[in-house]
Amino acid sequence: GFKMGIVGLPNVGKSTLFNALTKTAAAQAANFPFCTIEPNVGDVAVPDARLDKLAEIAKSRQVIPARMTFVDIAGLVKGASKGEGLGNQFLANIREVDAIAHVLRCFEDGDVTHVEGRVDPVADAETIETELMLADIESLEKRLQNIVRKVRGGDKEAVQQERLMKAAMEALENGQPARTVEVSDEDARQWSMLQLLTTKPVLYVCNVAEDEAATGNAHSAAVAEMAAAQGNAHVIISARIEEEISQLDDDEQEMFLSEMGLEEPGLDRLIRAGYQLLNLETYFTAGPKEARAWTIPAGTSAPKAAGVIHGDFEKGFIRAETIAFDDYVALGGEQAAKEAGKMRAEGKGYTVKDGDVLHFLFNT
Ligand code: GDP
Repeated sequence: GFKMGIVGLPNVGKSTLFNALTKTAAAQAANFPFCTIEPNVGDVAVPDARLDKLAEIAKSRQVIPARMTFVDIAGLVKGASKGEGLGNQFLANIREVDAIAHVLRCFEDGDVTHVEGRVDPVADAETIETELMLADIESLEKRLQNIVRKVRGGDKEAVQQERLMKAAMEALENGQPARTVEVSDEDARQWSMLQLLTTKPVLYVCNVAEDEAATGNAHSAAVAEMAAAQGNAHVIISARIEEEISQLDDDEQEMFLSEMGLEEPGLDRLIRAGYQLLNLETYFTAGPKEARAWTIPAGTSAPKAAGVIHGDFEKGFIRAETIAFDDYVALGGEQAAKEAGKMRAEGKGYTVKDGDVLHFLFNT
């Protein structure tokens, strides 16, 4: 599955957000109870109204949403890259995630201590990014030394790796994260194998005060500007409000949201933003037994998409009977879509589209 790491300075609201994410009813949906792998790792249901619609039409007995994993990576502070305190462990945790949700304190509250003694989310973002850049520099320095002999020996892969490491190093030494390096398609695989921290996509989470959740504030506006300049994404939420919402049942939730002037829980926006950031898409399977959402990277071929369900589906792939979500809903289900000529038989070369309702045929 896909993993998002929640990072940020101490006291910015990471735990509050993580608790809200994992305690919410949606997180505990269907027959996938919220499972605690470790105290700081949580599996969350991906909200998707399309799935409920399909389940209604197909009269599915079960609804199984896609899942996304969140990891609360606490304890990142100035000096983490030098291995002060538990710094190194935190950096290792970040290495394992696909993307970073960077929580920034955008609320003023004299009762909650700020580690730097002032509320300045843009400066906080720089503090964390600097630690990540220093960690990348340190790991690259070691690896550049270790690779020298292989490069001298004419190892082609080592030559490619060295070239990419040097490109990353140049950016980092100029104060730029490694994600600013332009990488060709041929280099993409080796590049991602470098596993640099500053190549991970970042979603800034502006944690604003309760009464600013709908509007944002000057701090979140400054973050929005920074994020846009970097090509990163941002969302505005109030972790405190999300914590409250997570404890309400559906009816209460709706009332509470409208009172706050919100259309949906901020967590829904956060998860969706994570999907966009990771360039993920959803396809569905729907029948009387279950309606289920499956996650794939955009641009996935039909056999690879089948492989997400089971390896045998990919190996023995014959074809995918495909109905676009809109056709499925407009015509009122699989049979009607088929009769209207809207069920397509797609072969190995087909690229699955977001919202496709699929039925795979395969050899066993
Ligand atoms: P962490 O160290 O980043 O995990 O931060 P916590 O989630 O433990 O939050 C630190 C403190 O800030 C706690 O007392 C929270 O209740 C408080 N806090 C979190 N979000 C908000 C918020 O939106 N407004 C206010 N006033 N306090 C908040």
